[in-house]
Amino acid sequence: MNMNFKRKLPIPMDIKEEFPVSIKMQQDKVARDVEIRKIFRGESDKFILVIGPCSADHEESVLDYIGRLRTVQDQVKDKILIIPRIYTNKPRTTGDGYKGMLHQPDPDAASDMLGGIIAIRRLHMKALSEYGFSCADEMLYPENHRYLSDLLSYVAIGARSVENQQHRLTASGLAIPVGMKNPTGGDLSVMMNAITAAHHKHTFIYRGWEVESAGNPYSHAILRGYVDAYGKSISNYHYEDLAKLNEIYAKSGLENPAVIVDTNHANSGKQWQEQIRIAKDIMYSRSQNEDVKKLVKGLMIESYIEDGAQKIGEGIYGKSITDPCLGWEKTEKLILDLAEKV
Ligand code: PEP
Ligand code: MN
Repeated sequence: MNMNFKRKLPIPMDIKEEFPVSIKMQQDKVARDVEIRKIFRGESDKFILVIGPCSADHEESVLDYIGRLRTVQDQVKDKILIIPRIYTNKPRTTGDGYKGMLHQPDPDAASDMLGGIIAIRRLHMKALSEYGFSCADEMLYPENHRYLSDLLSYVAIGARSVENQQHRLTASGLAIPVGMKNPTGGDLSVMMNAITAAHHKHTFIYRGWEVESAGNPYSHAILRGYVDAYGKSISNYHYEDLAKLNEIYAKSGLENPAVIVDTNHANSGKQWQEQIRIAKDIMYSRSQNEDVKKLVKGLMIESYIEDGAQKIGEGIYGKSITDPCLGWEKTEKLILDLAEKV
């Protein structure tokens, strides 16, 4: 092999012992998990917002953002359940570029994987202990899930990973909802196959163990738009897309049919400000058809403190260094507007 095994890293059990969650944190997470499961089972009409920056780049600005979400969550608690996006590991189209806090706890410095593991655990712990939020992350590396498994309430499998067997099998063993994104090319059968695989039980190898998963009835769809053969973004959040997905789900016989619609990425063509219109369009579609309303459990919105994005190194506080985001002022207004439309 042509790689240098630099150092052996602590296993998740060691990291959890060194940075343990308190009883209160455990209780808060369990209470949220129960509420989130009720939404996916159709026993609660609350609407989910998985919302936050494309990448959690700096602890300080991410926690500042999450504190703001806390205030709004308390205002809309009868209608909306907020799951902050703390995305600590980023898939990259060509593999190059900032791969998230896990790789670079300081985005301006070199990779440091041990520092990264500790930084992402600390950030998710603070979101829970200081603001009562158990959060969402992308499960980019299935083997790493256990570093955060006592903290997360939601994971997504990204558009570039959704066809991968290890992601699907690991999802089948998680006790929290796992959103399966449609792949970048838009083939919905890939997404549905991923959901089916996650709903079923499997025996496989995970972190050096032979494991048996229980099957995850809360795995569901995320529509994020796609690109055609020439790289043009094509959206899939429209009424017709949602009604069609409902038909596909009905034919599949899967339990708990559900979709979270991603308002950015190829749905907005990364025109971040369009997320406001797209979110409202989806609420309108829900209001037109009871089946669509039941199917669409929530939205995924890319939002941060400042509008748009910056290049790494520009150093603007609270401005995304990956995909462009909706800034705080617009976000707060949007959440309050959406609460009126649930
Ligand atoms: C993201 O949610 O920031 C992301 C990378 O999504 P996708 O996998 O849909 O590209
Ligand atoms: Mn993104």
